[in-house]
Amino acid sequence: MSDYELRASIIDGKALARTHRGMAAKRAADLQAEYGKRPGLAVVLVGDDPASRVYVRSKARACENVGLASFQHTLPADTTEAELLELIADLNASEDVHGILVQLPLPDGLNEAAVIESISPQKDVDGFHPYNMGRLVAGSPVLVPCTPLGIIELIKSTGINIEGKDAVVVGRSNIVGKPAAILLLQQNATVSICHSRTARLHEKVRAADIVVASVGKAGFVRGDWIKEGAVVIDVGINRTEDNRLTGDVDFEGAAKRAAFITPVPGGVGPMTIAMLMCNTVRAAERIIRGTAENAGAGV
Ligand code: NDP
Repeated sequence: MSDYELRASIIDGKALARTHRGMAAKRAADLQAEYGKRPGLAVVLVGDDPASRVYVRSKARACENVGLASFQHTLPADTTEAELLELIADLNASEDVHGILVQLPLPDGLNEAAVIESISPQKDVDGFHPYNMGRLVAGSPVLVPCTPLGIIELIKSTGINIEGKDAVVVGRSNIVGKPAAILLLQQNATVSICHSRTARLHEKVRAADIVVASVGKAGFVRGDWIKEGAVVIDVGINRTEDNRLTGDVDFEGAAKRAAFITPVPGGVGPMTIAMLMCNTVRAAERIIRGTAENAGAGV
C-alpha cells in the first residue's frame, strides 16, 4: 500500500486495548485493596483446536498483565457433557472465580447452548447467557459480549458522535453481529443488520456512516462500497494461503474512502481481550461488593 493513497486514519486497537487494560488493572487493584480479593477468570478449553489454544493463551497472558487470577482447565476432546457441566458447577460455586469462559467452538457432541446456560449469569463474562442477552436487548445490560463492546469503544475513540448516524452491521451472529447492532441502537444510531439473504448489500453499505463487518470472508466488503468519510470496523479474522491474517474488508480500497478504519490484525482482536478483562473485573465488583454488602441476590 502506498501511503499517499491512504485517506483513512487507522484506529489503533492495540493502543486503545492498552488503555482499557490499564483501567481494568486499576479497578482490580482497588478491589484487592478494599476487600483483599483478586478478580479471577476461569477459562475452559475442551479439545485441542489450535486456534482455540492460541486464544486461551492470550487470555491467560492478559489476566497476568492486568493482575487478575487465571485458572485454566483443559479437558480432552472426548469429555462428556455431564463432565463439563460438573466442572462448570464447581466454578459457579468457587469463591475465587468471578468470570467463567468456555472457549467456543466446542467439539461435536457437546451442546453449546446447554453449556452456556449452565454458567452462572453473574460469572458469564462472555455475555452469551440468555439472561445477559435478554438484559442487553431490554436496554439494561449487565455483562455484554466482549467483541461488540470493543467495537463500540473503537468507534467512540474516533471522536465521532454515533447518535443519528446510519450504521450497517454485516453479519448476524449471536456473538458479534446481533449484540453489536443492539449496542449501536442504544447509542442512537439507525441500524441495519445485513446477512447472506440481504438484497443489494452493497447499496446498504454505501449509505452507511458506520460499517461493522463480521462475515468471516476475506476482503468481502469491497472498498468501493464504502461511503466517503465512513467509520469502518473490521471484525473478520481470516488466514490467507501464505498464513497472514486478514479481515473481512478490502482494507486498501476502503482506506481510500473511509475516515477511520480498523486494521487486521491490531484492531478489534486486542480490544476483545481487553473487554474480557473489563468484564471480569465488573463481574468481580458485582459479586464481591454484593456479597460484602449482602445487597440482594439479583444477578
Ligand atoms: P458467523 O459465521 O457466525 O456469522 C457470519 C455472518 O456473516 C452470518 O450472519 C452470515 O449470514 C453472514 N454472511 C455470510 N456470507 C454472507 C454474504 N455473502 N453476504 C452477507 N452476509 C453474509 O461469524 P462471526 O460473527 O462469529 O465471525 C465473523 C468473523 O469475525 C470471523 O472471521 C471470526 O473469526 C471473526 N471474529 C473475530 C473476533 C475478534 O475478536 N476479532 C471475535 C469473533 C469473531 P447468515 O446469518 O445469513 O448465514
